[in-house]
Amino acid sequence: MSESIVRRTPWPKSSSRPVVTPLQPSVVYASPDPDGLDRQYDEGSGYTYAREGHPNATVLAQKIDRLEGASGGIISGSGMGAIGNVFLGLLKAGDHVVGGDQLYGRSLRLMTEDLPRLGIETTLADPTDARRIEAALRPETKMILVEVVSNPTIRIADMDGIAKLARDRGILLVVDNTFTTPRGYRPFDHGADIVVHSVTKLLAGHSDATLGYAVARDPALNEKIYVANVTWGFTPSPFDCWLAERGLHSFELRYDRAEVTATRLAEALAKMPGVTRVLHPSRPDHPDHNRVQSVLGDRPGNMLSFEVEGGRAAANALTRAAPDIAFAPTLGDVGTTLSHPASSSHRALTEAARAEIGISEGFFRVSVGLEDPELLIREFEDAISAARSA
Ligand SMILES: *Cc1c(COP(=O)(O)O)cnc(C)c1O
Repeated sequence: MSESIVRRTPWPKSSSRPVVTPLQPSVVYASPDPDGLDRQYDEGSGYTYAREGHPNATVLAQKIDRLEGASGGIISGSGMGAIGNVFLGLLKAGDHVVGGDQLYGRSLRLMTEDLPRLGIETTLADPTDARRIEAALRPETKMILVEVVSNPTIRIADMDGIAKLARDRGILLVVDNTFTTPRGYRPFDHGADIVVHSVTKLLAGHSDATLGYAVARDPALNEKIYVANVTWGFTPSPFDCWLAERGLHSFELRYDRAEVTATRLAEALAKMPGVTRVLHPSRPDHPDHNRVQSVLGDRPGNMLSFEVEGGRAAANALTRAAPDIAFAPTLGDVGTTLSHPASSSHRALTEAARAEIGISEGFFRVSVGLEDPELLIREFEDAISAARSA
């Protein structure tokens, strides 16, 4: 066996540089000598081991930092990894956390099962009213976790009220900005201490990379989140970071386009016979209409929900009649996706508990993508008329 080929050859010299960020899968980095290794650790002057950091994660983090007006963001292997880092890095047994009562399903599980198992108590409260959040606070409350727009009911949190409460009481406000994105809401501009994202969704945008992002405004807290990321091993794959960077380049264009289409689709749905409810922040009949301007400004986003008459049979007929709209429990893809909370995200709830938050068998959530708006409207017309005749 020839020994020489296992020796890594130097990277070919070139007086030009690649236009595209190179993909760097290397797990380890060779240092010149022990002094050089010391400098890498002490001054962060170089990469050492990919779990601790790698160039593709750094490049992606810096780009999301720019969108969020942040610095030092930490990329993790999933959105849940990012939320996990924040909890594991900043909380200890005996602390108390207040969360929105309509958080993402896995976040709810962390709140109701996993944090309590670690001796961290939690309370869920309705974030559309800061007084409910206030009533849930305790002397040992360390953190509040909210999403700006709730899934799938599209309710808008009382962000100003909650931010004031957190500031007055010295409690960390963590905002999961996945739904709203920095295009719709920039948590640091509104008093949040920590921002988290499922990069998997709108930021990466193509349903081909699973990643998360977390950043704290205070560098000392940020360091603790980073240490949790590399110690618990939530490190992202370089390839996913590379794909997500590619997706991120078109994020703003995609978001703007999908938002305009979502607004048109919401308007069209509201006029379709058989549709009993349409939830999108652009609509004057939105339950939090009076808060849309102060929280989202003129950025209603690409997520909407609607309800049709009828039970499971109508719901089955609707998805079957729209085979080109992916019936898949995700969001933020270039293509429009349709999800049915009663059989997916909210299947663990009883029918009565679902009814309490307005989720019936005829309730659907739509993540609007980049298709031609007229085509989408026609597809929904067909799907809804199929649901009516089921
Ligand atoms: C998807 C999602 C998450 C979890 O992100 P993953 O990348 O799937 O781990 C967290 N919060 C919200 C609001 C989400 O939509």
